[in-house]
Amino acid sequence: MIENPQKILEDIKREKDFFIGIDSDGCVFDTMEIKQKECFCPQFIKHYGLQRVSKYARETWEFVNLYSKTRGVNRFKALIRAMELLAERKEVKLRNANIIDLSSVIKWTKKESKLGNPALEKYAAETNDPIINLTLKWSKEVNVEIEKLVFDIPPFPFVKESLAKIFDKADLLVVSQTPVEALTREWEEHNIQNYVKLIAGQEYGTKAEHLKYAAKGKYDDDKILMIGDAPGDLSAAKANGVLFYPINPGHEDESWERFYTQAVDKFFNGSFAGEYEDNLIKEFETYLPEKPKWSN
Ligand SMILES: [Mg+2]
Repeated sequence: MIENPQKILEDIKREKDFFIGIDSDGCVFDTMEIKQKECFCPQFIKHYGLQRVSKYARETWEFVNLYSKTRGVNRFKALIRAMELLAERKEVKLRNANIIDLSSVIKWTKKESKLGNPALEKYAAETNDPIINLTLKWSKEVNVEIEKLVFDIPPFPFVKESLAKIFDKADLLVVSQTPVEALTREWEEHNIQNYVKLIAGQEYGTKAEHLKYAAKGKYDDDKILMIGDAPGDLSAAKANGVLFYPINPGHEDESWERFYTQAVDKFFNGSFAGEYEDNLIKEFETYLPEKPKWSN
């Protein structure tokens, strides 16, 4: 368990005038599809007994985690949302599938901000609740599957070039809801870990907390930028009153090329905020739906 993650973030020294927080999955690495489809979803079906509705469980899981506004959300919040949507589905009711009541998990996510296995492990020991234990087992097995399967996936084109370009002027932080252990493995595999001051994952709290403790107040608000591929990244930036650059889902290559050739210069010369950022965000918001198509 990481002792006092807030202090670690607060202790990050400002060395440059600018600060950039970068999400990892689906933003730096093209790892969202393989992790969600091949690791998270099969374990979701297995651990929560969704075999008889596996088709709908998969469709719902992918909607929540990849193809809607909740893309990139913390795994435990995703689990709750997917189960909630699944329980409402007609096909699921017709097949008499047993949908597990996650109220103990919901309770935990409401009082804990470091939504990762170490905090859940501690909570499981305190409560000995069967559904908490089951959820910890699912989450651990997901990590094992990811370690076995997810490697040899390089950063998107223009990521390395962009990191090299921003490194001279900005302090960088990985702002993610993935476990630190997986993030470190992925950033080190591609030798880009030295660009960042710290790799903050789910054990460090929410993305909004990462930005708040690492950057807010240390740099001018218009010199802090969050780069991400999900609405949660945008909200983390806006919760702190700082800037956001979107990596559009399905258009990551173009987004990074635009960042490298245009957006980053605007950020450094002070012309990013306002109309330019507004238009980027407007465009970004058209990519992911709020409601599933099966609810119509
Ligand atoms: Mg992401």
